[in-house]
Amino acid sequence: MGIWDLPASEKDAVELLQGYGIIPNEHTCKNSHKMKLYFGKQIFWKCNVEECNQHLGVRTGNWFEGNRISFLTAVRFIYCWCKELTSIKFCAEELGIADKTVIDWNNYMREICALEMDEKERKQIGDEGLIVEIDESLFVKRKNNTGRVLPQQWVFGGIC
Ligand SMILES: [Zn+2]
Repeated sequence: MGIWDLPASEKDAVELLQGYGIIPNEHTCKNSHKMKLYFGKQIFWKCNVEECNQHLGVRTGNWFEGNRISFLTAVRFIYCWCKELTSIKFCAEELGIADKTVIDWNNYMREICALEMDEKERKQIGDEGLIVEIDESLFVKRKNNTGRVLPQQWVFGGIC
């Protein structure tokens, strides 16, 4: 995907995120009816069974819960992050994101990378007689927006 292929509306952004499985493609209500996703001033799931008529926010139960940033801005941010363009200055000027939110979102991206690395199989770096250049980073996990800090984790990377 290139910068000109990025979504241009909230609906497009949500559909893109659904394509990546970040927002679910379908939802059922408490009575197991299939709900429909509505796009308007708000985006929400709705059960159209008359006696049921349940509503559910599109962010409920997924990665976006507790976040207020628009889906469009989130997709743009993620794209920019991949291009290493998420300085506070750039995000404020180009994406209209507040300082604190930029810091949060940079942390979320880093957490995802850390989780991904954690799930991958661990392989040995280098061997006897080889030179390995190492770099270390300290990771601090934080629960979504709650500010609760989880145990710290040092991560070492090495280039043989
Ligand atoms: Zn229902």
